[in-house]
Amino acid sequence: MPSATELEQTLQRLVRRVAMMLQAEKCAFLLHDGEENQLVARAPSLGLAPDQIRMLRLPANSGLIGEAYRSGMATVIEGPKDFQNVGETDSAWMTRLNVRNLIVQPLVMERRDEQERVIAHVTVGVLLIINKRGNDQFSHEDLLLLNTMARQVTAAITNAQMYLRLAEEKEQLQATLQSLLAGVVMLEPTGHVSLINPAAAQIFGMGDDLPLHRHYSEIITNEAILEMLDEVFHQRHESHREIEVLLPDGENHDGEPRIFQAQTAFVRGEHQGANVLMGVAVVFNDITAIRNVERMKTAFVSTVSHELRTPLTSIKGFISTLLQDTEGYFDQSDRLEFYGIIDSECDRLQRLIEDLLNVSRIESGRALQMNWSTFNPLDIIQKSLQVQRAYASDNHNLQFNTHGDIPPLTGDSDKFDQILTNLVSNAIKYSPSGGAVIVDISSDDETLTVSISDQGMGIPPGKLNKVFEKFERVDNRDTRQAGGTGIGLFLVKHLVECHEGRVWAESTVGQGSKFTFTMPLQSHASMQEDAEE
Ligand code: ADP
Repeated sequence: MPSATELEQTLQRLVRRVAMMLQAEKCAFLLHDGEENQLVARAPSLGLAPDQIRMLRLPANSGLIGEAYRSGMATVIEGPKDFQNVGETDSAWMTRLNVRNLIVQPLVMERRDEQERVIAHVTVGVLLIINKRGNDQFSHEDLLLLNTMARQVTAAITNAQMYLRLAEEKEQLQATLQSLLAGVVMLEPTGHVSLINPAAAQIFGMGDDLPLHRHYSEIITNEAILEMLDEVFHQRHESHREIEVLLPDGENHDGEPRIFQAQTAFVRGEHQGANVLMGVAVVFNDITAIRNVERMKTAFVSTVSHELRTPLTSIKGFISTLLQDTEGYFDQSDRLEFYGIIDSECDRLQRLIEDLLNVSRIESGRALQMNWSTFNPLDIIQKSLQVQRAYASDNHNLQFNTHGDIPPLTGDSDKFDQILTNLVSNAIKYSPSGGAVIVDISSDDETLTVSISDQGMGIPPGKLNKVFEKFERVDNRDTRQAGGTGIGLFLVKHLVECHEGRVWAESTVGQGSKFTFTMPLQSHASMQEDAEE
């Protein structure tokens, strides 16, 4: 394909040759702009200043130029007698360009089918030949001569247009490939790399220096990818597989391998009527997130079953014991203790089921229904701590510190309770050897701040934000022993956000964690509700 400069030079040469052969002072061509339906002058030209070119834009549906464009017939303006018939639009630009006489030659392109038969004529623009030198006039011969040359000019212009369009398409394609999150590699039939986008370069652990025109076996080190490409090039069949890649440090991946779905495809094209192999495309899609969710869901189902089974086993055990005690072996206080355990295990089951229902509500995009009321947050905290004491061991020391006056809070008291219950029960659960579990509450005129700290196992820095995600658990022996579903903090975050607040965690592994949430005493949503009532 010729370069853009070569095309420009060819056009320049043609314009000059036309002007020379017809002995014209000026020569320019105007191309049709479909959007504006105008004929617009384009460089190169001869005898016209850049400004004059820029201003030369004429309607395609009226005037002298428009007429020649539409009819496909050349027009000649011979001199003063013709000027009288020229309309206002035309006389303006003709005066500007000092036109004495003129030929308007349409540039008609022939569209052909595969057998080279002409199937259509398309007018792409017009050629303007202005002022015969030496005060002379353009002749019939000039017109004939021009007619033959117009074909060459049209061919040169359509080439240039096609080139520009291809260049634009190529640029677009390249920009698309650059910004794609998927990795794309194109290989020649020999196995040499002809294209590689940044996402693919990252998968292969390459910098900005892209290894074009090298054989894939020289640059790819990942065994699975090599195996897949060998299969494509040696056994000649397309292939797809999941591969794991450890991306270089500094990427946001917690040092864990990313999982890619790699897919190869033969790229075929027509060449001289034959179907030929032009290369092989390889696309890498990052499916780590999908696989993670699948993994977490599987883990979730097994932990939920476990969490449901534990209280049920206990309930069943105590009830069976009571049923079998026909001889009154257990006294009243034993029985009361058993009933108490059954009661709290039922609460636990109910909470778990409610949590699951809330997650499914959030998942399906339904907002949680807020029952706004104004209440004293201290009462709820005290009540929640009271309940949680039943789950704490003798080694736990539950404390509650109020800092200054705490004004009433407008919120949903049940949800506020749920937030606290979740955070306090986590603090107890994840400090199996006991220690202080301290709830601090403070407030200024606008915001309530509550923090729950423990002296338990702590959370690794990389997981501090993640623990608020659905099904996310820190996976180790201690947490497995503690049991859980990984939805508590996800719900806490959502419930705090329903109050227009924020929740975060700070922690040192082995020393303890501190969860803090803040929320406005009066949220916008609650005020809106007031206004609507
Ligand atoms: P669950 O407790 O049911 O697993 P959560 O969403 O409440 O689910 O907590 C998510 C994870 O965050 C827990 O599995 C645990 O690894 C970690 N975590 C939560 N609270 C604490 C805490 N106070 N101390 C240490 N780890 C915690």
